[in-house]
Amino acid sequence: MSGKSSFFADVNRSFNRAATHLNYPKGLLDQVRACNSVYQTQFPVRMPGGKFKVVSAWRVEHSQHRLPTKGGIRYSHLVNADEVKALAALMTYKCAIVEVPFGGGKGGVKISTTKFNTEQLEAITRRYTAELIKKNFIGPGVDVPAPDYGTGEREMSWIMDTYATFHPGRIDAQACVTGKPVSQGGIRGRREATGLGVYFGTREVLNDTQLMKRIGLEPGLEGKTFVVQGLGNVGYFAAKFLSESGCKLVGISEREGTLANPNGLNLEDVMAHRRETGSVENFPGAKFNEDPSEALYVDCDILVPAALERQITSENADRIKAKVIAEGANGPTSANGEDMLHEAGKIVIPDLFLNAGGVTVSYFEWLKNLSHVRFGRMDRRLQERRGLDVVNAVEELTGKKVSATLQAEITHGADEQDVVRSGLEDTMVGAYEQIVEQILSNNEIKSLRTAAFTVAIDKVAKSYLELGVFP
Ligand code: NAD
Repeated sequence: MSGKSSFFADVNRSFNRAATHLNYPKGLLDQVRACNSVYQTQFPVRMPGGKFKVVSAWRVEHSQHRLPTKGGIRYSHLVNADEVKALAALMTYKCAIVEVPFGGGKGGVKISTTKFNTEQLEAITRRYTAELIKKNFIGPGVDVPAPDYGTGEREMSWIMDTYATFHPGRIDAQACVTGKPVSQGGIRGRREATGLGVYFGTREVLNDTQLMKRIGLEPGLEGKTFVVQGLGNVGYFAAKFLSESGCKLVGISEREGTLANPNGLNLEDVMAHRRETGSVENFPGAKFNEDPSEALYVDCDILVPAALERQITSENADRIKAKVIAEGANGPTSANGEDMLHEAGKIVIPDLFLNAGGVTVSYFEWLKNLSHVRFGRMDRRLQERRGLDVVNAVEELTGKKVSATLQAEITHGADEQDVVRSGLEDTMVGAYEQIVEQILSNNEIKSLRTAAFTVAIDKVAKSYLELGVFP
């Protein structure tokens, strides 16, 4: 069998493995696993010189046990129906693990973003949105897209504006999409959310003394080496927060190739070099290889694939040196590849848990759009005043001055970003606890992925039962 099996088949294989540890009727499990609605559309886009190109696009709602469904929109020339279904299914399980009350969805537009100018990308995005509106595949209570590979705040802003134009006077229109710029109803902390979640999740795993003993690593992030594949939204922020926590970045890859330096790479310097020259090549003091896959084989403790799926398969899993594979991307490891990694004594932190920070903060953004109130607005000053009262009381009772640094800390009122980051950390820590609980309660569950799937399937199945779909 080829190393690259179907992505959706791999997701279902993980599902089936986990389902054997649960006691639900087959029919119910079949319903949880199935993709409920798949919409494919094709529309024309005008190219320079007046010619037209037909663009294929999809939106998949995997599970509507909770509404709205939620999931990003991907722009890539590699998108196909199987991939969008797999990603939509992952969203269902992801939302369940982090207790975000949404079903799973995903969108894909089959284009290479570098081949279109800004006006064409805007036209494609608005037309795609119009297609979704026509078929009721978008709306604050129906299906709420977000950014994914190849899309960002700009595209989300076009989507929101198109939706609002078609729904004049609709007070909750902004909640039809998340990952918007802050000026358009976005939330502070969404941009870095997935990467920050990758950091929190990796930190929890690295602090797990049992797991670290199993793979022969000292617990903790401090001093560990890591490599990141892909310097986009997820990869950049994961690298930033891991670097800030005392991990050493020893390898980076982008489309043009791999950069490695065992003595460490300064992330911001590499980013600035790439902005200036258009490539990571010729970065001072580091070794460059024009094959972007080489990053996967760099000697390090933690490998963070944060670009695309199917990067680690049965064809190359034996070349991975890292002991921990932290899946920033969706589906970077094939099922066969993962089996080989486990046999080699490595730990895979699965995507459906590790990169759930994005959807978690998207949920906060959706809540903000529905409530029309910025987090922190009501009580930030109250917290500041309460903090000041504590400082004054301590000084009065002890006769000593509280230091300026401590005073600043105690009197700091939580603003929107503080609230969002705190909610995200709490979510990732809580989700990991549930995964560990699952492993501890069943010694037949060996991998974090099977444990995570078991937690997720259990929740979705229960929710179908509560709906009365399966009396
Ligand atoms: P992005 O478009 O911001 O970044 C992807 C980066 O990967 C780009 O910089 C691109 O140039 C680079 N890249 C492409 N091919 C590469 C290759 N062969 N080797 C190395 N780098 C390569 O996308 P993103 O939003 O960061 O998404 C990345 C992954 O994370 C995807 O799998 C996506 O589904 C997943 N994800 C994203 C989010 C989110 O909030 N954006 C949330 C959860 C999961």
